[in-house]
Amino acid sequence: MSEKLIDTKVITYPDPEGMKKAAELIKSGALVAFPTETVYGLGANALMPDAAEKVYRAKGRPSDNPLIIHLADARDAEKYCYVTSGFERLAKAFMPGPLTVVMKKKDIIPSTVTGGLDTVAVRIPSQIAARELISLAGVPIAAPSANLSGRPSTTSADHVISDMLGRIDMIIDGGECDIGLESTIVSFCGENKLKMLRPGKITLEMLENEGFEVELDKAVTEKLAEGERPAAPGMKYRHYAPGAPVTLIEGDSADRNAFLAPLADDKSVAIICFEEDEEIKNASNAYVIGSKNDPEGQAHRLFSMLRAFDDKDEIKQIYAPLPEKSGIGLAIFNRMLKASGYTVIKV
Ligand code: AMP
Ligand code: MG
Repeated sequence: MSEKLIDTKVITYPDPEGMKKAAELIKSGALVAFPTETVYGLGANALMPDAAEKVYRAKGRPSDNPLIIHLADARDAEKYCYVTSGFERLAKAFMPGPLTVVMKKKDIIPSTVTGGLDTVAVRIPSQIAARELISLAGVPIAAPSANLSGRPSTTSADHVISDMLGRIDMIIDGGECDIGLESTIVSFCGENKLKMLRPGKITLEMLENEGFEVELDKAVTEKLAEGERPAAPGMKYRHYAPGAPVTLIEGDSADRNAFLAPLADDKSVAIICFEEDEEIKNASNAYVIGSKNDPEGQAHRLFSMLRAFDDKDEIKQIYAPLPEKSGIGLAIFNRMLKASGYTVIKV
């Protein structure tokens, strides 16, 4: 089936006229991709039911996968959902920033935006172009990551152009995203108790330091059984995935490098490794994701790296170390596990 192509305008932030136009487009129900501190978002007016439907169509995303609404100010949240005291505390500690909170929605938010759920996910981004766009539009902006469904999220305007040109109305180029992984998502299981549905830059430890008890949703680290219903609907899909299959290697670095040694310089294989992996890092098919001790740097580079593999047709298999589960490492672990379709080998 051939879809009609839209003429996608690309602007570079800051561009005051362009930003006004972007805000007009959002208000009128058109689609605008914009940078945030996490990943690029594919924005639509969250108050318009058919704008959300356009988002699903542009991404090829199943429409039972709810969108996050982006606000300029945490104080606006009460217009769109039933705000809890826990939210106020989270807002004080972490907003604006890479934390999304799920709460009971008010009727003003159409059910197309929430995939039919009676809850809505709310985030206040800190990135300057995102904040300006939301303020100028004067409406909440529903935005999933600006990638085709199933592909790695977009962390630069080039990524967005490659997935979305011809499918949306405008792309705001605001450079590379700072963090490079999607926001942390939590919901409440009590006033003082959170469930983490998706890990991100705001870590379990950081939430606990604010006095919350935090439970990790099972789907973050484990494959759900056939027919099991995830708490965060999007988490059930194979996600964040490059074209070639990914295998994660569990084992210490000596064993991992010994396993990989025979694959060095094999053009059909891509090896993701750390700066410290002296034995393998100089192979022509090795890709250094950063220092073992710099998970933030790894997070920043991960999706770019996975996407770059898609441009190299000769790569048929990708190997990567199984990430550590502490701090932001848990978010990298979760994304890599999904990218691999839970393929882990022990060496
Ligand atoms: P993305 O916009 O691509 O970062 O994905 C948004 C994700 O947020 C969805 O795939 C869900 O996992 C999660 N989410 C959004 N709204 C809700 C909600 N109301 N309840 C639970 N999870 C949600
Ligand atoms: Mg996404």
